[in-house]
Amino acid sequence: MTSRNQQLFELSQKYIPGGVNSPVRAFKSVGGTPIFFKRGKGAYVWDVDDKSYVDYVGSWGPLILGHAHPDVIKAVQTVAENGLTFGAPTEAELEIAELICQLIPSIEQVRLVSSGTEAGMSAIRLARGYTGRSRIVKFEGCYHGHDDALLVKAGSGALTFGSPSSAGVPAETVSHTIVLDYNDVSGLEKAFAEFGDEIAAVIVEPVAGNMNLVTPTPGFLSTLRALCTQHGTVLILDEVMTGFRVGLECAQGLYNIKPDLTTLGKVIGGGMPMAAFGGRRDIMQCLAPLGPVYQAGTLSGNPVAVAAGLATLKQIQKAGFYENLGEKTKRLTDGLTAVANKHGIVFSAQAVGGMFGLYFRKTIPISFTEVMECDKEAFNRFFHAMLNEGFYFAPSAFEAGFVSSAHSGADIDRTLVAAEKIFSAWQGLN
Ligand SMILES: *Cc1c(COP(=O)(O)O)cnc(C)c1O
Repeated sequence: MTSRNQQLFELSQKYIPGGVNSPVRAFKSVGGTPIFFKRGKGAYVWDVDDKSYVDYVGSWGPLILGHAHPDVIKAVQTVAENGLTFGAPTEAELEIAELICQLIPSIEQVRLVSSGTEAGMSAIRLARGYTGRSRIVKFEGCYHGHDDALLVKAGSGALTFGSPSSAGVPAETVSHTIVLDYNDVSGLEKAFAEFGDEIAAVIVEPVAGNMNLVTPTPGFLSTLRALCTQHGTVLILDEVMTGFRVGLECAQGLYNIKPDLTTLGKVIGGGMPMAAFGGRRDIMQCLAPLGPVYQAGTLSGNPVAVAAGLATLKQIQKAGFYENLGEKTKRLTDGLTAVANKHGIVFSAQAVGGMFGLYFRKTIPISFTEVMECDKEAFNRFFHAMLNEGFYFAPSAFEAGFVSSAHSGADIDRTLVAAEKIFSAWQGLN
């Protein structure tokens, strides 16, 4: 008998391309059938066949409080009863804007949007409008949403102009985008020496979370900041994933780097579609209606999304929130490393706040090239074996993982027990 899950996936493929509404959900990287979920509570999710899992995906980052946190759900319900959208200003938007500006000192003004993609493309347009320049810089392996200008991969040659990484993106659209290697300070210096005064913006994930997890090496972000300042280039930190995930001060506080613009998403919407971009007042004031850079959204600052965000931001300001989250995440990565190494498996792992990276590689990678050296087949075996034991990790070797405040020490310990079982039988799994 086929499971309900299997039936749903087969039918979904008839009406939805690939059966999914975002490609990584399709399990193409790990193989097998994507899991259809029907419920989540705290650290747990249940699939349509009633199997439960400890969830280390957390909807790819937003669910820092776990699923269905009572205060978030209550806030959403209360606000929804008074109307879902007005397309006009509300008091709650002021409240969350003020809070974001208080918590992130580099942000003097902020505008709300509905997705990280929108935040990234709006920040790029704003930087180009502000500087009157066209060129932008991004780093291989960083993801900033699916805006055309950013769907670009490195071409050949040391200093590369990107080529589109998706069909449907005209080469001219990415011809202004320079693609550099993450953590490569000399590449950065070369690019600025050649094009510095033509570069409108550099966009970077201060901790890269879309090529598994790669942390900035000492000097990378500070050099970037110095070069941008020297050349009048707008530095955009994409904190859509890291914002309120690696700490209350975000990655910019953790690494002590002050961007000109920041993009936010995921955690600030508490599970609802909300994102934001903000930063220096003189730059933000170039936006319509004050300035010439156009940007708009029918559902921007949606009351229900703002309510979920505010309720989430309230919880994460509690004393000890990030210490606790960070300790649990480190307990997971240290524990997995110990268990794997005990059984002679080539493995490393690291945590930054509530996000983590697992690598089937001897040492922690610091570049896209090194991430690509991870043993993908080993990850896929680990993924499916853990899934079978009731632990849901990201269905790709090249994604970061997430722990929420709802995960207990016991949840982490149970995960390590399952890993011990799997790694002790690892040779036999071949
Ligand atoms: C998820 C993510 C985005 C895109 O956000 P969406 O809401 O999926 O459009 C952009 N940048 C980073 C760093 C992300 O992790």
